[in-house]
Amino acid sequence: MVKLNHHYSKLNSNPQTSSTEDFFGPLTPTVAEALENASREMGSPETCKGYGPRQGYPFLREAIASHDYKGLGIESDELFISDGATTDLANFQEIFGLESRVAVTDPAPPLYIDVHVMAGRTRLPLKTGGYGGIVYLPCTEKNRFTPEIPNRPSDLIYLSSPTNPTGVALDRSTLTGWVHYAKANGAVILFDGSYEAYLRTPDAPRSIYEIPGAKEVAVEVRSFSKTAGFTGLRCSYTVVPHALKVLDGHRLFSLHSLWTQRQQTKSNGISYPVQKAAAALYSEKGQKEIRQRIDQVLSRAKALRDQLTQQGYKVYGGIDAPFLWVKGPFQEKGILATPGSHFGPGGEGFVRLQPSGAL
Ligand SMILES: *Cc1c(COP(=O)(O)O)cnc(C)c1O
Repeated sequence: MVKLNHHYSKLNSNPQTSSTEDFFGPLTPTVAEALENASREMGSPETCKGYGPRQGYPFLREAIASHDYKGLGIESDELFISDGATTDLANFQEIFGLESRVAVTDPAPPLYIDVHVMAGRTRLPLKTGGYGGIVYLPCTEKNRFTPEIPNRPSDLIYLSSPTNPTGVALDRSTLTGWVHYAKANGAVILFDGSYEAYLRTPDAPRSIYEIPGAKEVAVEVRSFSKTAGFTGLRCSYTVVPHALKVLDGHRLFSLHSLWTQRQQTKSNGISYPVQKAAAALYSEKGQKEIRQRIDQVLSRAKALRDQLTQQGYKVYGGIDAPFLWVKGPFQEKGILATPGSHFGPGGEGFVRLQPSGAL
């Protein structure tokens, strides 16, 4: 008789039935055209592609390294192309022991914690909400939704900027503090940069690798979902620097090697047409279209922010992120609202809003 993984039944959040993230517009013309052309290549014996490189095609990894990591010294072979930030944020924990201590912002996307519940890395649910064994990093109005360094050790740390769901950008000194803490504790930071393209605060780092020493402690995940309307097409990337080594016992292990091994065993990569579509984003025309798109999404968020502020709501986010974090009960037509408690006990009393409707 089969036995089940009973850790699954410990989940106390319901999986979302429909995506709340589908309001980032259609693919831009340049991307749609590249997708069409590459699909046609797949239908001809001269140009069709079989299994591609597991880490992703060099044409895409090189475009990402030279555009998105210009001046930061990230090389194309430190990049892993994937079908979504969700996939990699969910799977990365597999290469760490079950005794690893996890630190997560509260509130945070449920994914960050739920994958550890399913793996059996958490203890009993707490009366206050949340799970035992997790180091919660409260992000409140009082600390301006900025996670503070805890006074106890942790091993795997989830950070994001702009932070979901509060929409607040983390500043350089906060990220520097976290990089130092990770180094001192032999910890690894999983940095979720899914909304990086929305950052507007001038000195907010776009990448964790802008912080000296971050390559030795951090993995960075980014996605084309929110920046280029890829929620339905699926493409993302993860940076695992060669300099990222963890000491287990007396041995140093390269996370790049372990992640390569994991991916080679459990994945055959992302389809060629999708990678061609993503690469088209890095053409001059592709970049222009995306900049316009992001400005459009941000101006819609700002308009809603202004409107709600005028109505007397206490509003956060909407400047460095396409969503708002609003205090108090909220109900209005045409605005997508997710109750704050969906993001953990720290989300109680808030609601996350996104303007909805076609772009
Ligand atoms: C949407 C979202 C993701 C997932 O993105 P996909 O690439 O579509 O899987 C990850 N992290 C955050 C914070 C998100 O909002």
